[in-house]
Amino acid sequence: MTEAQLKICQNCKREFVIELNDFSFYEKMGVPAPALCPECRFRRRAVFRNETTLYSRQCALCKKNLISSYNPKSPYTIYCSDCWESDNWDPYVFGRDYDSSRPFFDQFGELMKVVPVKATMVSSSSKLGPNVRSDYINFAGGNKDCYLIFNGGGNENVFYSRGVSFSKDSSDGYFGVKLERCYETVNVSESSGVIFGQNALGALDSSFVLNVSGIQHCFGCVNLRHKSYHFLNESLPKAEYQKRVAEIQGSYSKTEEFKNRFNDFSLKFPRRANSNLKSVNSTGDYLVESKNLVQSFEAAKCEDCAYLFSVKYARDCYDILGFGYDAELMLETVASGYSSRIIGCQWAENSQNIEYSIAIRKSENCFGCNSLKNAKYCILNKKYSVEEYKRLREKIVNELKSQNQYGLFFPPALAPFAYNETVGQENIPFTKDEVLDYGFRWEDDFQMTIGKETLKPGQIPDHINDVTENITEQILACIDCSRNYRITPAELQFYKMMILPVPRRCFYCRHRDRIKRRGPLKIYERFCSYCKKPIKTTFAPEQPEIVYCEACYQKEVI
Ligand SMILES: [Zn+2]
Ligand SMILES: [Zn+2]
Ligand SMILES: [Zn+2]
Ligand SMILES: [Zn+2]
Repeated sequence: MTEAQLKICQNCKREFVIELNDFSFYEKMGVPAPALCPECRFRRRAVFRNETTLYSRQCALCKKNLISSYNPKSPYTIYCSDCWESDNWDPYVFGRDYDSSRPFFDQFGELMKVVPVKATMVSSSSKLGPNVRSDYINFAGGNKDCYLIFNGGGNENVFYSRGVSFSKDSSDGYFGVKLERCYETVNVSESSGVIFGQNALGALDSSFVLNVSGIQHCFGCVNLRHKSYHFLNESLPKAEYQKRVAEIQGSYSKTEEFKNRFNDFSLKFPRRANSNLKSVNSTGDYLVESKNLVQSFEAAKCEDCAYLFSVKYARDCYDILGFGYDAELMLETVASGYSSRIIGCQWAENSQNIEYSIAIRKSENCFGCNSLKNAKYCILNKKYSVEEYKRLREKIVNELKSQNQYGLFFPPALAPFAYNETVGQENIPFTKDEVLDYGFRWEDDFQMTIGKETLKPGQIPDHINDVTENITEQILACIDCSRNYRITPAELQFYKMMILPVPRRCFYCRHRDRIKRRGPLKIYERFCSYCKKPIKTTFAPEQPEIVYCEACYQKEVI
């Protein structure tokens, strides 16, 4: 190939471009260029990653009650983490021959239905250690006394958060590290006492702050550096500042009122085109210390990659969702890491040359395998000699190539989750009809209750000081979706300590809101509102924000 190519997505029929760099990557991986656009490819992967939709059910082996990301209606055999990782069952028992007269993916789908599945993605062997007293978590390791946290590790006393790591005594965070006493944060790191903050670094005891660093005691402030005692960007004497803050703090109605006031106020200030930090030659958002990334989001310390979401330490990888860590030459993977030469896998770890497989650890040269460890030269959970493996693998690869599937992720029919249970719906939401049109499933039946509340939203005291311990025995109802939820004793203690009103909305609505505040996983072409130079940003052209290019922004903000 000598030039970029315009292609039509086989699925959504939209145009997309395959760049020259892309062709050389695909060549390196030995796959043809994809027939699907990046967004359709993301969706295929996303239906293999359910982080936040949890169900209670039973381990099929030891019968203990557990939390699982698999709906009890799903056809899989679910094991608890201990049973799944034990030697009490043998994945090779389910091994089978490849039948070249039938589609490979049908045969892999049959294997998926019989091999036991691990209830949640929690690791007992994580480098961060086991999770302690933290049952309601997923994609998490090394956490202590945590509740409803997802995609995070090394936390203590952290609740209702996603993508938060190495943090303490915090709640309602999205994407951040080293938080202490923080609440309602999006992309806040190395901060303490930050409440309702976004894009903050090194901030202390501040609320309603946006695009700030090195500040302390600031309330309702935008684009400030190394300032203290500022209220709505105005410097105030300490006593006056404290008086104004005290008038709002702890009251639900005053907090909501200020939230709206701050939103309007913040629209008057220019924003950076992206929230990347120390990243060069990259497009995307929330990229940290990365180089040469294309259309990637929430990635740290990655290089020469494209279409990443929630990945750390990956090099030369395309289309990967979650994990990373010393990952190289991976294409179309979910939750895979410490691996190289991986194509189309969900959870490949410490492995090489693995294709179209699930839950493969410390293995090499496996194709279409499920839940193997220390395996070599296996296809559909059956062992082969090196020669036989090569011959058979080529046959399957040719079959997939003839269907334009080789190099893409598993087809939607194999998805273990419904679209609206997964990071797909969280990040690129669709209606039920749209989801079904794409060939994904939709779930109407979540394990949740509505109408069982013992305390109506209007009966919750406005100020946290007037809320009594008794609230932890009540059932509340979300003011947005009516879903019932509870306040745990640890959570109440946190609100009291932080002087925060009790939330009137359930975790799922709060989580969705934070993702909305984070912005879409989509890059728009726009012009710098100041110098008119073209920029790439997640702010759609019709959005009201004033968006500056990096140079203009840095000149404006001192
Ligand atoms: Zn498409
Ligand atoms: Zn068990
Ligand atoms: Zn809700
Ligand atoms: Zn500019």
